[in-house]
Formats: sequence, structure tokens, C-alpha cells
Amino acid sequence: MSHQDTGTESAPRASGMPMLGLGTWQNDEPGQCAESVQTALEMGYRHVDTAQAYGNEAAVGEGIAAADVDREDVFLATKVWISRLAHDDVLSSTEESLDKLGVDSLDLLYIHWPAREYDPEGTLAAFEQLHDEGKIEHFGVSNFEPEHIEAARDHTDIPIFANQVELHPLLPQEELREYAAETGLELVAYSPLARGRVFDNDTITTIAEKHDASAAQVSLAWLREKGVTAIPKATGEAHIRDNWASLSLDLSEDDIAAIDAIDETDRQVHPDFAPDAW
Ligand code: NAP
Repeated sequence: MSHQDTGTESAPRASGMPMLGLGTWQNDEPGQCAESVQTALEMGYRHVDTAQAYGNEAAVGEGIAAADVDREDVFLATKVWISRLAHDDVLSSTEESLDKLGVDSLDLLYIHWPAREYDPEGTLAAFEQLHDEGKIEHFGVSNFEPEHIEAARDHTDIPIFANQVELHPLLPQEELREYAAETGLELVAYSPLARGRVFDNDTITTIAEKHDASAAQVSLAWLREKGVTAIPKATGEAHIRDNWASLSLDLSEDDIAAIDAIDETDRQVHPDFAPDAW
């Protein structure tokens, strides 16, 4: 994408990745998914997150094409699924993703999990080839622990741009945040609303009431304060707009300290192929 100003606080930072994006997991009905993407882009969002495994890349592509926004102004990310991580499958499945999305290149392509067919040598050689061919601007990983990132770095010369992980006030991921800051890695928070669980937390709802804001906005503003990019999934215009308005919510230092002190932990995504450390 171009680095031009989108006129919002979510304008690309130096890395080129807008800090608030639209998630699309389980936005499964194609017409609805395309409409959600179009609505978000026309509201000002410039970052869309999908994955091969979500089965909605074609719908996401339709939404991008339908929106009154230039493709080059959209930061588009997808992920290679764990069954397609062998060298040649990375290449062929990425071609399929480009085709479904209706684009020539991706702003960010992630390894979805360090699991199943993932093999640092073969998988990363394929990502390097896609990078050299200009099919991906940035290479990212998802659900990687620092040890996986260190091992990956031994196998590629292209920088690892981002790690996408579950991160929200009920799973603050201090170690991963520290590691990202120390090694110049962007962190992207998935399930930034804890798939709805933050709405039940008293600390968050109290802060939300004080600011006349929603609990979703408080969670997203807290992530922004931590320097973390967030990709909340929202389907209809009301949720998409509510999340967008988090950009104008400024939390006080006391609010942030209160959220940091929440001692409830709730990990929402934990499949059987997740890293052992979980
Ligand atoms: P989430 O964004 O934490 O929560 C989504 C849920 O919150 C949906 O039920 C949504 O409802 C609702 N919601 C959204 N905005 C709201 C608002 N303002 N007020 C009330 N409810 C609201 O969960 P997620 O979908 O798990 O995570 C976000 C994205 O991260 C995914 O869509 C996907 O792109 C990515 N992700 C990646 C991985 C990975 O392994 N890399 C794993 C999980 C997720 P509606 O849909 O009805 O609006």
C-alpha cells in the first residue's frame, strides 16, 4: 500500500501497517463478508485481515473491489494454513489466495501456526521466493513463541515483520510484547475483544461507563496505548463503527494501570496443534 495519509489516527505508522484493522474469521456468508469489508473501508479502515482457512478470501476481495477506496491504499493480510506450509504448497496456495482476493500482491502474508507441515527451511525458502518475486511486501508469523521466531530467523534473510497473537486485557502477553519491542517486531492482536469476554469484565465496563464509551472501545484503546495493532472482527455497521470510534478514546494513566492490574486470564484460541508452551 502507499504510505499516504488516510486522514485518520489509524493512518499507517512508519511500518506502513494501520493500527486498527478489520478481522474476518467466521464472517462466512459471502455477501455479508463482502459488505462488512466494503463498509469498513468506506468508513476509513485501511487494514483487512483474512486467512486461507477462513474460506472467505474471495468475499474479502469482492468487498475491496466494491469499496470506493483504491487497492493500493488498503493493507491486506492473509495467512497460509498449516496443511499448505510445505515449500511448493506455500507457493501454489499463495497463488490461489491472490487469485481469490483479486490482487497482484499482498501487503502481509503470515504463517498461520508453527504446526503440521511447517518446516522452517522449506517453508521460509518459499516465503523468501514470494518476497523476491514481489508477491508479498511483508512476511509475518502467527502464534509464534520467541523460540520459533529465533529458529525462523536462522533460516531467512528477509525480516520477520509481525507476529499475530491472541492479545487483549485478559491475555496481556507481557513477554511477547517485551520480545517484540526488543527485536523490532510488530505485534498484531487477534481476538482483541477476547471474542466478547472483555464485555463481562467489571474493570473494563466501569472505565467504559466513565468515558461514555463501549467496553470494546476500551479494550481497543488499551491495545493502542501498548503499541499493538488490533484487528477486531465485526460484521454489521454498528459494531464496525463502534470499534472505529475507539481511535478517539484516550484512556488516562489510571485507566491503563487499572486494566494492567486485571488478574483474570482468559485464552480464547487453543487448538490441539498450539505451541506446547500454552
Ligand atoms: P474478536 O474480534 O475479539 O471478537 C469478535 C466478536 O465480537 C464477534 O462476535 C463480534 O460480533 C463482536 N463484536 C465486534 N465488535 C463489537 C462491538 N463493538 N460491540 C459488541 N460486540 C462486538 O474475535 P476474533 O474474531 O477471534 O478476532 C479478530 C480477528 O483476529 C479474527 O476475525 C481474525 O481475522 C483474527 N484471528 C486470527 C487468529 C490466528 O490464529 N492468527 C485467531 C483468531 C482470530 P459481530 O461479528 O456480530 O459484529
